[in-house]
Amino acid sequence: MKKIQMVDLSGQYEGVKDQVNTAISQILETSAFINGPEVQSFREELENYLGVKHVIPCANGTDALQIAMMGLGLKPGDEVITADFTFAATVEVIALLQLTPVLVDVCPDTFNIDVAAIEKSITPKTKAIVPVHLFGQCANMDAIMSLAEKHNLFVIEDNAQAIGADYTFKNGKTQKAGTIGHVGATSFFPSKNLGAYGDGGAIFTNDDGLAHILRGIVNHGMYERYHHDVVGVNSRLDSIQAAVLRAKLPKLDQYCARRREDARKYSAAFKAVESIKVPKVISNNGSGDSYDDHVFHQYTLRITNGKRDALAKHLAERQIPFGIYYPIPLHSQKAYADERYNEDDFTVTNQLVKEVISLPMHTELDDEQIDYITRAVIEFVAE
Ligand SMILES: *Cc1c(COP(=O)(O)O)cnc(C)c1O
Repeated sequence: MKKIQMVDLSGQYEGVKDQVNTAISQILETSAFINGPEVQSFREELENYLGVKHVIPCANGTDALQIAMMGLGLKPGDEVITADFTFAATVEVIALLQLTPVLVDVCPDTFNIDVAAIEKSITPKTKAIVPVHLFGQCANMDAIMSLAEKHNLFVIEDNAQAIGADYTFKNGKTQKAGTIGHVGATSFFPSKNLGAYGDGGAIFTNDDGLAHILRGIVNHGMYERYHHDVVGVNSRLDSIQAAVLRAKLPKLDQYCARRREDARKYSAAFKAVESIKVPKVISNNGSGDSYDDHVFHQYTLRITNGKRDALAKHLAERQIPFGIYYPIPLHSQKAYADERYNEDDFTVTNQLVKEVISLPMHTELDDEQIDYITRAVIEFVAE
């Protein structure tokens, strides 16, 4: 059996090698390292793929979130609601801009932000909601968009883990993750579903005015050379990363389908085990419990019989990699702890951090590996 890896990017490279190598040598020959034609082409191709009016490439997903918040004109003291159960980048940029993070609990079955908890946390100071499409599935955007409209709030989608995912609205309409709110942010970190060979990110919006502001912010607030109209940052996607992403973008749907296929195999194997909760997909696309609207950035189980840590050890002994995403609620992190928070408001996240375990998930898993992984999990948890 091939050695199991948490993320295996080598097989993907084989599929795009000629195109990537040719494009990179051309960049080396022409020295168009920054803002070269590859960046412009990637921007257009991603706009077409997502069906969004504007893509603004930038240096990484964390910058994308920060620039989105700067572009919306959020001011120190404005409250921004986001999930307690996510990667820290989401709350980090809120704090960095001296906005007030308001962390709220998530849903136990989807791991996504709990809309009732958002609603409870809205105050006159609330200016924005940042749903994170965690592990590759969209948050409940029907409810979040109507709540935002009702209270006049911005919605900033953290789409770092869900590029390529579809969201099906209750009325049957489908839209790409990241293009539903006022602005969306994504990451092209190598292990993300559309990964570069270094850092990268992008911001999406359908709003022409906001797009103009964002394009200035990513470039030192400049529209005309050495004329700085607003305070900006330096955040660029470089040409080599754009070339890699251009080669991979046409295969993104295929990559996502492959992940879904593996997720279905995992879930079928675990279905009968009482103490294993497989990921649940809430979809309005009419196909019931179908995994169609999920791109499985992570395949995350809940181990409900208290054996999660012991299982982790068992897997490690069998050379099966795993991830604990995430081991500590954000409201309990030193950097983000705040006396405003009440433990009773985070019962789900406090439970999830003890139960979750993510299994190897990438586009190169084979059936023998999946079988080995599922048997190792079941023999231990069910015993
Ligand atoms: C990866 C990630 C980010 C940050 O992306 P970088 O490109 O690493 O800066 C932000 N939010 C979430 C949910 C992520 O998973």
